[in-house]
Amino acid sequence: MSDAQDLFGAAAAGPLPERVPAEESIRPTRLEDFIGQEELRANLRVYLNAARERGQAMDHTLFHGNPGLGKTTLAQIMAAELGVNLVCTSGPVLERSGDLAAILTNLSRHDILFVDEIHRMPIAVEEILYPAMEDFKLDLVIGQGPAARTVKIDLEPFTLVGATTRIGLISSPLRDRFGIISRLEYYTPEELARVVLRSARILDVPVTGDGALEIGRRSRGTPRIANRLLRRVRDFAAVFGKGIVDAEQARNALNRMDVDEFGLDQMDRKLLRVLIEYYNGGPVGVKTLAAAVAEEVRTVEEIYEPYLIQCGFLKRTPRGRMATARAYRHLRMPGGMAEQGLLE
Ligand code: ADP
Repeated sequence: MSDAQDLFGAAAAGPLPERVPAEESIRPTRLEDFIGQEELRANLRVYLNAARERGQAMDHTLFHGNPGLGKTTLAQIMAAELGVNLVCTSGPVLERSGDLAAILTNLSRHDILFVDEIHRMPIAVEEILYPAMEDFKLDLVIGQGPAARTVKIDLEPFTLVGATTRIGLISSPLRDRFGIISRLEYYTPEELARVVLRSARILDVPVTGDGALEIGRRSRGTPRIANRLLRRVRDFAAVFGKGIVDAEQARNALNRMDVDEFGLDQMDRKLLRVLIEYYNGGPVGVKTLAAAVAEEVRTVEEIYEPYLIQCGFLKRTPRGRMATARAYRHLRMPGGMAEQGLLE
């Protein structure tokens, strides 16, 4: 199946409108369909009900956590639950303060403005957000030099929902203006199996409970990856199997895709292997490591490392990254200090 077909794969699922991109069709739209993150979900339910009862805009909310854990989905759910519009943008797109001012002045009462990658918003843009978040006012400077003047514009009450993979890069004045700050955690294999079963129902893919769990186990704790693997496994099952995805089908397909039993893919293993083979297990700086595997530092830091650390294959130390004894064992690599138990 081509990527384009895959993107629109959901169109084949029947009652869905044609040409709905797969990701959108399987995104939960109500809080009760959002799987896992129990505490966050329970709290969000309270905040949503309270805002509805008071007839006010909900408090500004910041979601942080690794990519694909459900931050955008939660923003969409909030808008659907409150029956308001959702306006989406992202930090790097907002280059000038005028870009954000135009969006803010177009918001209707109680709308939600979702800013993805909010840590990448330029500081000049961030500064006009402060009064907007606090008092629903914009302070704009019009003109330059002696002719410059400040104009105050009233905004409709709105809710800012920010998403970030790097909470540490959010300035404290911005962070302090969010009433709700929630962290999304990695999902358990069982929760991911539920994500897979739900998506499989929508995409009309027959999956057994065991098959879903096998996919869940190898999805790096991340629903977006679980959904992606499900689509690929479906392709393998359709071509090589009975069309039904059971544990064996899932295992075979995932092995062929080079996704191992921990969910590590080629790049994860390459990172660990380079760390062990070239740098004797570390410590080595992240910039050197990223250059050695020809990846961007940001990608290594935000995508690969968090999961490798979570699995106990990698350690961040003040002197750099180090492979653990577990990583040597997993890759079946001999030698290194780790083998002698010096690193763990
Ligand atoms: P983020 O914004 O954190 O990168 P998204 O909200 O775009 O992640 O989620 C990625 C995909 O994973 C979505 O398309 C959605 O279908 C799925 N997903 C995320 N969280 C959940 C969840 N809790 N339950 C079911 N599906 C989820």
